[in-house]
Amino acid sequence: MEIALFGNPNTGKTSLFNVLTGSYEFVGNWNGVTVEKKVGRLKNRSGSLVDLPGIYALTPLSKDEAVASEFLLENMFTSVLNIIDASQLARNLHLTIELLEFSKPMVIGLNMIDVAKHRGIIVDAEKLSEMLSVPVIPIVARTGRGCSSMFNTFADGEHPSSQHFRIDYGESIERAIDEISSLIEERTLNRRWLAIQYLQGNQTIISRINAETDSEHIQQIVHGLEKRLGRINSRLTIPQWIYQKRKNYIEKILSAAIRHNKQPASETLTDKLDAIVTNKFIGIPLFLAIMYLIFHTTFSWIGTPVSDQLDAFFSGPLTDWTRSLLAWAHVTPFIRDVILNGIIAGVGSVIVFVPQIFVLFFFISWIEDSGYMARVALVMDRLMQAVGLNGKAFIPLVIGFGCNIPGVMAARSIEQPKERLITVLITPLMSCSARLTVYSLFAGAFFAKYQALVVLSLYVLSIVMAMIMAKIFSFFMKNEHSVFVVELPPYRVPNLRTLFRSTWDKAKGFVRKAATFILGGTIVVWLLSYVGPQGLNVPIDHSFLAIVCSVLAPIVAPLGFGTWQAASALITGFLAKESVVSSLAIVYHVPHGQTLTGMISQAFTPLQAYSLMVFTLLYIPCMSTVPAIRREVGSRKWTLFTVGYCVVLAYLVSFIVYNVGRLLGFQ
Ligand code: GDP
Ligand code: MG
Repeated sequence: MEIALFGNPNTGKTSLFNVLTGSYEFVGNWNGVTVEKKVGRLKNRSGSLVDLPGIYALTPLSKDEAVASEFLLENMFTSVLNIIDASQLARNLHLTIELLEFSKPMVIGLNMIDVAKHRGIIVDAEKLSEMLSVPVIPIVARTGRGCSSMFNTFADGEHPSSQHFRIDYGESIERAIDEISSLIEERTLNRRWLAIQYLQGNQTIISRINAETDSEHIQQIVHGLEKRLGRINSRLTIPQWIYQKRKNYIEKILSAAIRHNKQPASETLTDKLDAIVTNKFIGIPLFLAIMYLIFHTTFSWIGTPVSDQLDAFFSGPLTDWTRSLLAWAHVTPFIRDVILNGIIAGVGSVIVFVPQIFVLFFFISWIEDSGYMARVALVMDRLMQAVGLNGKAFIPLVIGFGCNIPGVMAARSIEQPKERLITVLITPLMSCSARLTVYSLFAGAFFAKYQALVVLSLYVLSIVMAMIMAKIFSFFMKNEHSVFVVELPPYRVPNLRTLFRSTWDKAKGFVRKAATFILGGTIVVWLLSYVGPQGLNVPIDHSFLAIVCSVLAPIVAPLGFGTWQAASALITGFLAKESVVSSLAIVYHVPHGQTLTGMISQAFTPLQAYSLMVFTLLYIPCMSTVPAIRREVGSRKWTLFTVGYCVVLAYLVSFIVYNVGRLLGFQ
């Protein structure tokens, strides 16, 4: 049994998917969060479930919508599970009708009944089921209520079929539908559905049918239909006729199945809040203030004290215990040094920042799930318009703050190919969580009092740089414009379970990276710092690492950090940005009883430290992001271009920061 989840964006499909498969996929209170199909095995029963991007109709506009409608055509799945939002039925049912006409076994999950009830909307599921001729099961996807009984409907053996559903589109259209479907030679798909989709202007279906049948004959039928409809009402095109008929039918359903038990409030709390948070003047400052508060809480109140404890534990007891253990096991000095000075020092220096990242992501997940982020996208739309993009491009950018890879992928929801390309090109500039470890280290060492402000400034810089680059890119390649229709979802009190899972998921990815890329990088860096032309265990300044990186150091010297140590850290930063921290921990070889922060604060000045943070922010997409860019833009040239322009940009900006800073008298 393979069940495919279809529905409008933001109706709770992914929440349901997570409940039923026990997996964790990103849930967000806005559109364009799921851009790929995800397959999961069902918990406690056999079969699988496929999560698809949200769509409003089967006629695809953007790439992620195409994923959903292609799935419908190409894949052999058993049944459709259509999730609809009980508080937005009028809009949701358009897709439902198209799916019903597709005539696969289908069940409807009536989700968000809690929201609907809160607004005084009572939906009669039985009546709805009767009028749509498939089972309609009320559920709350977020908590899992009703979900397993919904599945029993599928598993009951007899598959609920949508064969009996039929809208009468009126005599002329019905005749054309019959004529077209008699011409189609199709064995797997429903012919009536194909004919309706053809008339509705679904390009995929039109080219498919034209390739297989006598397309001229069909053209004649369509022209005939246009003429006949023109005589009745010349204003409407065929697709508009079809839409109108469906709309009338939906109104009939709604008046029969919906009851309001309270007057809809003239101005809800959501409206009042929106008037403030999307205000032209207050919107952006408010967002910055909220981000500042979040950083402040993360660093000063919660994160840093915990990180300091961890750091003390790693460099104190943990190192001592390991040392005794290794002595007891009689390992060679070489192995001992790899473990103590390489792995524990290097990987440990990154792990100590996990609590901070955990806290930060908890807050970010919170504002995402509350619905506030969609408002920020709306506010940013004005800014994005100015640089030739639109607010939709802001979503990949925000996701990029977590990790650039899903950010790059989220650009799929943008319809215009050029806008999509520009968005992919600028997403690697977003300050991902890996860079945060570098800020934590340096801001903690140099700007202890103003940590939150310094980190905020780097985030703002990353957005500003992205905007400037977008403006430049769109000057060269943009000619079409798309419109941004963001739907503002209602504010929701975030669900604790979702929050913790989403936070844990990010932290888990971090630990996984620590065990692979960062560990690997650490061992290589340590080895290179251990071996030199004179043999093993040389003084670090005579190691291969020092010799090679000394050649590179002069290149970055104009940026303020021309030491071989900094150069080696930046090179490994390509593996993963956290490696900048782990490499510094190795090359500065922290003596017992001291901390990396202490060593760093002697090796750099505050201005140099800031310049290095700016450089780390911009200089290169990490090794895992590069293939993601390649996949999304499908061109090696653009991938190389992205890497190249980031390096040049980082060099320029750091150069300006360092030299202007010096002119202003900073050190
Ligand atoms: P998708 O876009 O259809 O995949 O929707 P998501 O699963 O990402 O959910 C969108 C938003 O709706 C998230 O903020 C969910 O927490 C929330 N949500 C999902 N189901 C319910 C529900 O039954 N009740 C309420 N109140 N919120 C829900
Ligand atoms: Mg989703």
